[in-house]
Amino acid sequence: MPFFDFIQADPQVAQLLASELDRQRRGVELIASENFTSNAVMRTMGTWLTNKYAEGYPGRRYYGGCEVVDEVEQLAIDRLKELFGVEYANVQPHSGAQANAAVFLAVLNPGDKVLGFDLSHGGHLSHGSPVNFSGKVYRATFYGVSRETGQIDMDVVAETARKERPKLIVCGASAYARDWDYARFRAIADEVGALLLADIAHPAGLIAGKHLADPAPWVDIITSTTHKTLRGPRGGIIMMGKDKDNPWGRTTKKGAPIQMSAILNSGVFPGMQGGPLEHVIAAKAVAFGEALLPSFRTYGAQVMANAHTMAEAFVNRGYQLVSGGTDNHLMLIDLSNKNVNGKIAEKALGQADITVNKNMVPFDTQSPMVTSGIRIGTAAITTRGLKEAQCVQIVDWIDALIQKPEDEQVQASIRKEVNGLMSQFPLYPSIQG
Ligand SMILES: *Cc1c(COP(=O)(O)O)cnc(C)c1O
Repeated sequence: MPFFDFIQADPQVAQLLASELDRQRRGVELIASENFTSNAVMRTMGTWLTNKYAEGYPGRRYYGGCEVVDEVEQLAIDRLKELFGVEYANVQPHSGAQANAAVFLAVLNPGDKVLGFDLSHGGHLSHGSPVNFSGKVYRATFYGVSRETGQIDMDVVAETARKERPKLIVCGASAYARDWDYARFRAIADEVGALLLADIAHPAGLIAGKHLADPAPWVDIITSTTHKTLRGPRGGIIMMGKDKDNPWGRTTKKGAPIQMSAILNSGVFPGMQGGPLEHVIAAKAVAFGEALLPSFRTYGAQVMANAHTMAEAFVNRGYQLVSGGTDNHLMLIDLSNKNVNGKIAEKALGQADITVNKNMVPFDTQSPMVTSGIRIGTAAITTRGLKEAQCVQIVDWIDALIQKPEDEQVQASIRKEVNGLMSQFPLYPSIQG
């Protein structure tokens, strides 16, 4: 089916859409936060649900005509609850950063102290970075990884929490290859009287597939994106394993305790956002439906097998992985023993249609625009259908490119091989781009 005929009215945009589809089709996508949605998820976003205003929540809207979108949103909520085995879900956050902002707004006062994972060690901007609202409005403190192991030292987390007495502790990262000890984080949060938030933006799909530790029994609140390993539309979610009374003794006018679910809901709307994106929420429902299928669990297992294969292949070729390997879908490669920085490596690989991002490594001496490392993830290539054998091939290509980062002939010949490989794994074959 031709995809672009309905925007013949705008050939300029149609041309750009076609170019981007071609780029996605011909390249090896290794950006750890990216994935390829199903046709169903993607097409659901491009529908007339975008026309509907629905401020509020199902059954309690500030607009008429919400009967159908109420059902859509409730379906998304119900499927998400089933997927993670949780009691509470909010599917309205426009993105992962918005989900975190809504939670911070709901459970903190301006100036309250937060303890998060250091951005320069793999954390996320929205966990207290000084350039982000979370570091401007709240007082941010951080834990990081140990120099020796490249892993989070839980004793240091405990010491820092005792010293700083934060109101909220955040676990979760954008570039951390190891699983999380949620039980230990719980004990630390209880000791200092902090709320505990797990931001599972990256590993959400692997947690849903039961490949990684489940934070739900341990943490107070979970936030996530829906578009990384969870493979849904670009968006955010908030969950709680169990709903409970708020810990601050807030009551309704009639004196009834206010549930945390109500406090989180009002953090999203009216606290942080206006009208929900019901077309995206419908696509979230489709993605959660897909993630509930047994095939999604198989997908997650393959994502991890591919990551392990690549990590091992890199180590065998003399590469230094932060923490020495991976438990999940990504790895952080420290290139400081390879005579290239992250910026040069990203560019050289890009010339061969292999897309990665430069990334700070813990204790990096380079600036964030240069960096000493690259981050690599397997969620997207696994969706394309690549398996262990292709992963080893890709590591060989990356190694050749990094050894000669200026060699345009090497880049051109590898690009040809990359394009040849990816043509065997069609992306959106029903779309004529
Ligand atoms: C990606 C990510 C986010 C933010 O997601 P956006 O949808 O880009 O706003 C938040 N937290 C973590 C840990 C992430 O990796």
